Amino acid sequence: VSAAPERVPCPVCDGTGFEFLFERGGESFVRCHGCGLVMINPRPRRERVKAIYDQHYSHGYIIKSQAKLRRARRWVDRIRRRYVPSGRWLDIGCSAGFVVKAATEAGFDAHGIDPEAAAIRYAREVLGLANVACAKLEHCDYRNGTFDVITLYDVIEHVDDLDALVERLRRLLHPAGVIEIRTPDVGHLRVPAALWRWNEIKPAEHLHYFSRATLARLLARHGLEIVAQRRSLKPGLKVYVRHARA
Ligand SMILES: [Zn+2]
Repeated sequence: VSAAPERVPCPVCDGTGFEFLFERGGESFVRCHGCGLVMINPRPRRERVKAIYDQHYSHGYIIKSQAKLRRARRWVDRIRRRYVPSGRWLDIGCSAGFVVKAATEAGFDAHGIDPEAAAIRYAREVLGLANVACAKLEHCDYRNGTFDVITLYDVIEHVDDLDALVERLRRLLHPAGVIEIRTPDVGHLRVPAALWRWNEIKPAEHLHYFSRATLARLLARHGLEIVAQRRSLKPGLKVYVRHARA
C-alpha cells in the first residue's frame, strides 16, 4: 500500500501554480507559472524510483569504460586549466568513478559518492579508487569549505530536495572554488516543441528540467552564481558556478 502522491511547491520560486503539460509513464509533467521550471508533480512514488535505479543504472557505464574515461579526462583538464589547478575535488553522483579517476590522475585529491553499490564496487575494484563511497550527500560529514571543485554531471535533474542540495553545495565549496553542473536544457533550441517527445523526459528518474534561467534562480537563492556557460549542440546545460559576489 503506498501513500497518495505528494504535491510540492516549485523548488525554484516556491510557486504553487502549475500548467499541466502531459502524462508519461503514469507521471504528471507540469510547468511552473511563476518561473517556468518543468517538473514531475506530484512526486513519483519512492518505490518506483528505487526500482528504476536498482534495475539498470551502472551497466551502460561499464560497457563503454575507455570512452567514459577519455571524456572525463577532457572535463577535468578544462577545469584544471581554466579554474582550479589543484586541490580537493568532489564528484557527486560519481557512478563508476571515471571523473574521480581522471581528477586523481591530474593531481587532485578526488572523492566521489554515488547511491549505487554496483557502481562504487566497480570504482574500487576495477579503477582502484579508495576515496569513493556508496552514499547520499546528506549522509556525508564533509567539512564546510573544504572542496575546491565540486562536479555534478547528469545528477541535479534526479535530485528530490534541491534546496538542501544547493545549500550544501555552497557550504562545502571553498570561497575560491568552482562547481560544474551538467543537466538537460529544456530551454535549448533543439528541444522538441512537443516536449513529451524529448528523449530526456524520463518519468520517475528526471524530476526537474532546467533552463539556464531556472537553474540560475535556484542557485541565487543559496548565494551561488553562474560565471560561465559552455555552448552545446545537444540540449544540455554546462555551467560553471561560484560563490556570488556580495
Ligand atoms: Zn517556479
